[in-house]
Amino acid sequence: MTAQLNARGDVAVVVPAAGAGVRLGPGAPKALRLLEGEPLLVHAIRRTAAAPSVRMIVVAAPPAEVEAVHDLLAPVAPVIVVAGGAERQDSVAAALAVVPDDTGIVLVHDAARCLAPAELFERVAAAVRDGADAVIPTLPVVDTIKEVAADGTVLGTVDRSVLRAVQTPQGFRAGTLRAAHAAAADSHTDDAGAVEKLGRAVLCVPGSDFALKITRPIDLALATHLLRLDRTEP
Ligand code: C5P
Repeated sequence: MTAQLNARGDVAVVVPAAGAGVRLGPGAPKALRLLEGEPLLVHAIRRTAAAPSVRMIVVAAPPAEVEAVHDLLAPVAPVIVVAGGAERQDSVAAALAVVPDDTGIVLVHDAARCLAPAELFERVAAAVRDGADAVIPTLPVVDTIKEVAADGTVLGTVDRSVLRAVQTPQGFRAGTLRAAHAAAADSHTDDAGAVEKLGRAVLCVPGSDFALKITRPIDLALATHLLRLDRTEP
C-alpha cells in the first residue's frame, strides 16, 4: 500500500473531514478553517502522523476538495484521500473501505479534534492491542446535567458521576468496526455507538483537554490559546 508512515506500525487512522461545519458560521468546510494560519486538518494530521503506531492515514474530504486536500496534506504526511459522504458515518465507511484487510487496529479521529496529541492515539491503540474490542477516550462531565422537556421544564437531574464526555480518536479491532458499520441501520454520532449496538463492550481510557472538538466560534478561540500553550511546552 502506498501512503505508508511507520512500516512497523499496526494502526490505520480514518479521519472524517467532510463536514460543512455550519455551526462555525459561513465559510470553508470546517476541516479547512484556519487555526493560527493553518487548516484544522493540517493540525490534526500532523499530530496523527506523530504517533509511532500509525502506519497509514485515510482522510475523507468534501467530494469537491479531494485533490486540494491531497495537495494540502502531501507536505505534512503521506495520506490517502477519499471523497466523504452525506453523513459522518458515510465518510467513515468510505475511508474504511480503503484500509487493507490485514490491518489489525483502526482508529477513527474527527478532524475537528485537531489538537488531540500523539500520546492519546498511543493510549487508545495500546488498549485495543491489550485486548479491548473498542476503546474511547473520555473526560468526566463537569457541568450539572438536567433532563428537560420540550417546553423548558426540568424533568430531573442526571447523576453526573456516571457520565463521561467522549472524544476521538476512538479505537477498534478492525473486524469489530467493519461489522458495526455493516450492521448500522440508524445514524450514529460516534463509531463506538455502533459497536454498542452490536452488544460488544466498549472500554474508556482517559481523554485529553487538548482533544476538544472545534464546533462553535468560541472553540476556535480556545484552541488558539491551547496551541500557543502547546508550543511553549518543553
Ligand atoms: O458535524 P460534526 O462536528 O459532528 O462532525 C464531526 C466530524 O465528522 C468532522 O471532522 C466532520 O468533518 C466529519 N464529517 C464528515 N462527513 C460528513 C459530516 C461530518 O466527514 N458528512
